[in-house]
Amino acid sequence: MNPNIIYYEEEILNYTLGKNLFEKYKSLEWVRIENHNNIPELRNNQNCEFPRMKQHLIIGIRKTHKYVPNSKTSDFLVPYTSSGCSAMCLYCYLVCNYNKCSYLRIFVNREQMLSKLIKTSNQNDAELTYEIGSNSDLVLENTITNNLEWTIENFGKNERGYITLPTKFDMIDSLLNVKHKGRTIIRMSINPQEIITKVEFGTSALINRVKALNKLKEAGYKIGILIAPVILLENWETLYKELFSILSETLSQKVKSEVFFEIIFMTYSYVHRMINTEAFPNAINLYDKNIMTGRGRGKYCYKPIIRSQGEEFLRAEITRHFPENKIMYVV
Ligand code: SF4
Repeated sequence: MNPNIIYYEEEILNYTLGKNLFEKYKSLEWVRIENHNNIPELRNNQNCEFPRMKQHLIIGIRKTHKYVPNSKTSDFLVPYTSSGCSAMCLYCYLVCNYNKCSYLRIFVNREQMLSKLIKTSNQNDAELTYEIGSNSDLVLENTITNNLEWTIENFGKNERGYITLPTKFDMIDSLLNVKHKGRTIIRMSINPQEIITKVEFGTSALINRVKALNKLKEAGYKIGILIAPVILLENWETLYKELFSILSETLSQKVKSEVFFEIIFMTYSYVHRMINTEAFPNAINLYDKNIMTGRGRGKYCYKPIIRSQGEEFLRAEITRHFPENKIMYVV
């Protein structure tokens, strides 16, 4: 990411990371803000400004640290060192929460967040798993802050519990020599290349995500694959069939021997439709009224019958190519 402007809370300059970022981006314009959660001049922008706003970098202090219980591949969702993202996937879940202000926000009080994580982990009798990447893409953030390698190493030293994160990026080389102690699970989010090209603007190519997964496994990380979100374009069967053939041909034996799958079908919303229509007028329209239905408060999902067909197809493909590997859940 090459930010075009920085918005910052003054207090960040009391933190080492804040000072480092100030030095790193000193040639850019820095605009002081009261609160990273509310920047009126950005909130009032038109939807067509969305791509330009995605190049803004917001730096602040995270004030809320409440863990939310979870029951998929982790026990708790943990607010961590960033929220938002500079990529522009047309379905991004962050747009539901932050609307057009889903730009990348970095929080410099990382010591406070890691210390709570380690303390919570030590207090539990069981070794629990903490999802630290539910609000951003930490591999992308790491290219700016190095926070992820710092977190993996320091959490690993404590040797209690696990951290996990999903990513759509391949910039993982700086993680390969980190002493992770087997305490970090990295889940690569994957889609057919045609969908990446048409929908996941600014993310890594499929083949590079697969190579990254192979390297992470070689470096001893625990790994997973998210087929997410499953998007039922007109030719979806062909696309996902090809995807599983590519995975079967290019994933290493080590990955195949223990990778698990998660499958998440796309949900979409009225807010996405409004922003995408104005910000990306030439992009494909992900809303298809023939196969989607309302899901309360301006949200859409695939009709149950359509989704069942999709699930059956994907389960069959996984069983065909990866008979030994577990599907953790389908949602
Ligand atoms: S990479 Fe993830 S966080 Fe970033 S825009 Fe895409 S879905 Fe959103």
